[in-house]
Amino acid sequence: MKEDLKPSRRQFLKIGGAAIAMIPVLSVSGKAMATTNASMRAAMKYQNKPNGEKHCATCMQFIPGKTATALGGCKIFPGDTEISPQGYCVAWVAKPK
Ligand code: SF4
Repeated sequence: MKEDLKPSRRQFLKIGGAAIAMIPVLSVSGKAMATTNASMRAAMKYQNKPNGEKHCATCMQFIPGKTATALGGCKIFPGDTEISPQGYCVAWVAKPK
């Protein structure tokens, strides 16, 4: 009976060790996915501050992050995941009410 438990305990330790080893890999890959689209930012004159009342959070192109203040995306900035809700660019269009 004791012999039967050894393989499963060994398997458990292997799986647990592999899971622990993946934590840094997942956190690094999560950071690697956050990126900006420099060429689109330059072309659209993106800035990390509002232009008066106009800012990304009120733009119909904005893709919100996990919270109201979190960085998000923009439908016209492919691959950019660091758009500030307080940012602005010349392509700003009011979100429909
Ligand atoms: S179009 Fe410009 S203002 Fe609108 S969400 Fe995208 S970056 Fe912000």
